[in-house]
Amino acid sequence: MQTRRLKADEQGILEAADRIRSGDLVAFPTETVYGLGASVYDAAAVQAIFAAKGRPGDNPLIAHVLGIRDAQALGEWTPLAQTLAEAFWPGPLTLIVKRRPQVSSVVSAGLPTIALRAPSHPVARALIAAAGVPIAAPSANRSGRPSPTTADHVMEDLGGIIPLVLDGGASEVGLESTVVDATSEIPLVLRPGAVTPEMLATVAGECRVAEAVMRQLREGEYAPSPGMRHKHYAPKARMTLVEGSGDEVAAALTALTANAPNTWALALADIIPQGAGPQWRSLGRDAGEAAHNLFYLLREADHQGVKRIYVQALRRDGMGLAVMNRLARAAGFDIKTARELLQGQHDKKGNTE
Ligand code: AMP
Ligand code: MG
Repeated sequence: MQTRRLKADEQGILEAADRIRSGDLVAFPTETVYGLGASVYDAAAVQAIFAAKGRPGDNPLIAHVLGIRDAQALGEWTPLAQTLAEAFWPGPLTLIVKRRPQVSSVVSAGLPTIALRAPSHPVARALIAAAGVPIAAPSANRSGRPSPTTADHVMEDLGGIIPLVLDGGASEVGLESTVVDATSEIPLVLRPGAVTPEMLATVAGECRVAEAVMRQLREGEYAPSPGMRHKHYAPKARMTLVEGSGDEVAAALTALTANAPNTWALALADIIPQGAGPQWRSLGRDAGEAAHNLFYLLREADHQGVKRIYVQALRRDGMGLAVMNRLARAAGFDIKTARELLQGQHDKKGNTE
């Protein structure tokens, strides 16, 4: 199949909307990452999303709507969902509520709940409006690869597999939406994103974060969000997260990447040493910039044949929690302190001398 790439102007959006209505898949930009969309009401098209991505059949999709009214047609609204949607929609927040029986269970991978989001990206909104139906869409990557933040990334993963990509430039946030269970009275974050636990607590009074957000599920353990079970966001390189003060991390990254071919040091700009070599890559100036740059950098590492990446661990608050959630999964939860890594380097040298 030839994949067409259309500029996301009025004509491109109308053509994409036609495709959605006739049961095809369309990749489109949102403010978080690019999505791979189909009509929520077309079970065969929704099924085709799983096939195109190679997505496990038990990992549900997010239904994209224009606002609260559309969302209420798909899910059983709760007072908490109302409060959160009023505060953060349209935007990078996905709400989990009970699914209405008329919505195909294929969207929810058989779960009794459904994930709902009203995106703020003008192209995503225009597409939903023109299609006249909610659009079920996970991220537009092959399963297990970093989510796509540009049309180029989508072409890399799904070129030849889907008919159409709408190109609307780079996604602003760069990480997937915050996923919140809104079925009870207190919001429970299942996946951190740009709408942070701190922001949710401000409007809801309090906010919980699922414990599995920052650790690996144990064999057979219940996953409050099926996405937690799956390998995710993985570059081809082996990755280790490095914790410690800025100085300690800079020293460890310097030692670990010196004379090490195909090895990268990824860190915030302020700890990168002056005159650092090309093995140093900047995550940006803060966690927000790191979110925007992360998936791009992981894909770039693949292109350059990088085999080993050491990354500065960020503080797990605000947007830092979202970045760390993706980094920890990409690293298979290999998180070490700068001190133990430096000690290891030292021991290795001692042994060979
Ligand atoms: P993606 O759109 O590719 O970022 O994936 C959607 C994410 O939302 C996955 O991590 C899913 O596991 C999660 N999700 C979707 N629907 C539900 C649901 N009903 N309950 C819990 N998590 C969900
Ligand atoms: Mg995804």
